[in-house]
Amino acid sequence: MLVTTKEMLLDAQAGHYAVGAFNVESLEFVMAVIKAAEDKKSPVIMQTTPGTVKYANLDYFAAMCKVAADAASVPVAVHLDHGDGFDRCVQAMHAGYTSVMIDGSHVPFEDNVALTASVTKVAAPLGIPVEAELGKVGGKEDDGPAVEGENPYTDPDEAEEFVARTGCGSLAVGVGTAHGVYKGTPHIEQGVLKEIRSRLEIPLVLHGTSGVPDDQVAEAIRNGICKVNYATELRQAFTKGFMGYMADNPGCFDPKKPSRPGMQEIYDVVASHMDNLGSTDKA
Ligand SMILES: [Zn+2]
Repeated sequence: MLVTTKEMLLDAQAGHYAVGAFNVESLEFVMAVIKAAEDKKSPVIMQTTPGTVKYANLDYFAAMCKVAADAASVPVAVHLDHGDGFDRCVQAMHAGYTSVMIDGSHVPFEDNVALTASVTKVAAPLGIPVEAELGKVGGKEDDGPAVEGENPYTDPDEAEEFVARTGCGSLAVGVGTAHGVYKGTPHIEQGVLKEIRSRLEIPLVLHGTSGVPDDQVAEAIRNGICKVNYATELRQAFTKGFMGYMADNPGCFDPKKPSRPGMQEIYDVVASHMDNLGSTDKA
C-alpha cells in the first residue's frame, strides 16, 4: 500500500532499525525493488532525484510507483530525493509523491531555513513529510558538479535551531559519507552523529551510502539513523546484469532479456541491505 514516510520512519526510530530508500531509474528498478521488499516483508521507500525526473517526468514515476505500491503487501512510500527548489517539491506533491526532500544544503544557513520552511508550510496541511539537509554530503550528487575536499559535518547546534525553525520531519546529516563511487573506504563520524541525535527528536537520514561497509551502516543505525539512501549501487547492479547478458548474447535485440539479469542484480543488493538495515519482517 502507498503510505507517507512519516509513520514508516517513526516506527523505524522506535524499533531501532532503518528503512532503505532506493533510487529508481526505470520500470525495471521499480519492479526489482518492490519484489525484494515483498519477499523480505519490509517497508520500502522508492525515490527519484530531479535528474531522473527530468529524464521522464514526475507523473511517470509517480504512476509507476503507485501501481507497484497498490499491488504490494508492504508499505511503500514515494519520495522526491534532493528536491531542487520550492516548485519541484510542490509539483511532486501534486503528482502523488507521498514524501519530499528539499535540499537547501548548498545555500547559507538562513536561506536554507527560509527555503525549507516554505516547503514545510505547503506540505503540512497535505500531511506530506519533508526531509531537509543541513551540512553537506560530499561527492557528485545527481547530475550536479562534484563536491571536492573535506566534508563539512553537520553542526549539532545549528541542527537543533534548524529543525525548530523549519518544522522539517526528518533531517539528512553530513557525517562523512559522499554521493557516487568512493575512492577509498568511507568513514562515518559516529561521534558527530551521536551528538546530533542527542539534540534532535526527528528521524535522521544517511545519504551517499552506496559502498559504505554494512557494519558502519549498522552502527549508524544504532546511533540514530532511520532512513538510508542507496542510488549508485543499484545503477551499478542493473548495468552489471544487463551488460553481462549482452556480452554473452551479442546478437540479442530484445531489451527484456538483458533486463531480467539486471533486475536480479538489483534485487540481490536491495534484499541484502534490508537484512542489514533491520527492516526485514518489519512490514
Ligand atoms: Zn543524497
